[in-house]
Amino acid sequence: MNFSESEESYYLYKEKGYEGEVNFDKWAVPLSVSEKMIFLNDVNLNQNNNHFQVDSFGFSSGTLHHFEVKNLEGDYSIDKGKWISPLGNPVKNPLIQVDKTETLINQLINNHSIPLTVKSHLILINPEFHLYNVPSNLPIVYPAQMNRFRNSLLHNSSKIRNADIRAAEKLLALNIGESNYSSVPKYRFDELRKGMVCPGCGEFYAEFKRVLCCGFCGGKEYSPDAILRSVEEFRFLFPDVRLTTVKIHEWCGIVKDERTIRIVLQKNFIYQKHSQCSYYI
Ligand SMILES: [Zn+2]
Repeated sequence: MNFSESEESYYLYKEKGYEGEVNFDKWAVPLSVSEKMIFLNDVNLNQNNNHFQVDSFGFSSGTLHHFEVKNLEGDYSIDKGKWISPLGNPVKNPLIQVDKTETLINQLINNHSIPLTVKSHLILINPEFHLYNVPSNLPIVYPAQMNRFRNSLLHNSSKIRNADIRAAEKLLALNIGESNYSSVPKYRFDELRKGMVCPGCGEFYAEFKRVLCCGFCGGKEYSPDAILRSVEEFRFLFPDVRLTTVKIHEWCGIVKDERTIRIVLQKNFIYQKHSQCSYYI
């Protein structure tokens, strides 16, 4: 669908944040495979009606590491405690968020008698990030320090103990799931571009054939698999809309013959016959 300018910039911001979290997960692999740390990612918590989200928790040797991951890019600077973006505009100081979250985490674990010491880290993961005029005592890990930081965690942590696992389970039980302020843009069926999308790169297939071939990444996919995947995407986006051959035919866009769609639906779903409108479940 076409985004408004503000939707587009919000979406790009979210995408960038997500990229940062994925890179953080990759960075964290040696800590989990060596059983030095247990990770809980993307945890939504509630302390005294304050909803807050934590990018990543790491449990290790009685310490609860709180990782706030930012994927900021470019040259930032600090001026009288304010963070200034590469374009010279003041931006939200991420350290204030880290502080606030740390306070809430401490209250929460005290209330639930989870005996851990909280250590917060602001992880600036983008290799193209730099910050000028920084006092040295801030809990920031810069891109160039990531490997040394991980080595020191590996070196200073002992193997995970049962107490760490129990603490992680307790905190996981407090996760309230998807936060209610995570917003998905509103969309309607008729507003969305119809077609079939390559699972490898997200681009639309140009043409429907027995084997679909992506003109962008060269990925190949057997057509019934591609139709079935499109059906799953449709069901995910429109859980309340009935699954019919006509609807999926329209959704897939490039499939000429409705019968091709019907065969896939018949094979994978149960036909519900009704006099007015028959559909699949
Ligand atoms: Zn592709």
